[in-house]
Amino acid sequence: MSDKLWTGGCLCGTCRYEFKDDPPHSGYCHCNMCKRSTGGGFAVLVQARRASLTWSNGSPAIFRSSPIATRGFCPTCGSPLFLQYDGDGLIRLTAGSLDHPELIRPAGHYGVESRLQWADIGAGLPEEETKERF
Ligand SMILES: [Zn+2]
Ligand SMILES: [Zn+2]
Repeated sequence: MSDKLWTGGCLCGTCRYEFKDDPPHSGYCHCNMCKRSTGGGFAVLVQARRASLTWSNGSPAIFRSSPIATRGFCPTCGSPLFLQYDGDGLIRLTAGSLDHPELIRPAGHYGVESRLQWADIGAGLPEEETKERF
């Protein structure tokens, strides 16, 4: 497997990251915490191996959003950057923070019990309800 280098960062450019994967798994999350955290109708999250992710510039601020997960955001501009479950080898980056979000293909829906009626995107993809992990 030839891993491609993916790069991304926040709105102001303080926080920059990179990781290698090809292609990263991604999906829509409709849970209410992602709505609050991103300020959008849903989140699009991209999985990266935590060990392969490096912060090439800046250091995100961390907010503990639940007993089992934290969320990272830029301390300067506030851009949401990631969701990280405690002890998980994967980190979930916000797709919109990628430099090239057009290259990913979200593969499913999570938290569909909280899906907004107007969030009619990604029709036909597998759907999953929120588990107790949140
Ligand atoms: Zn920033
Ligand atoms: Zn979510």
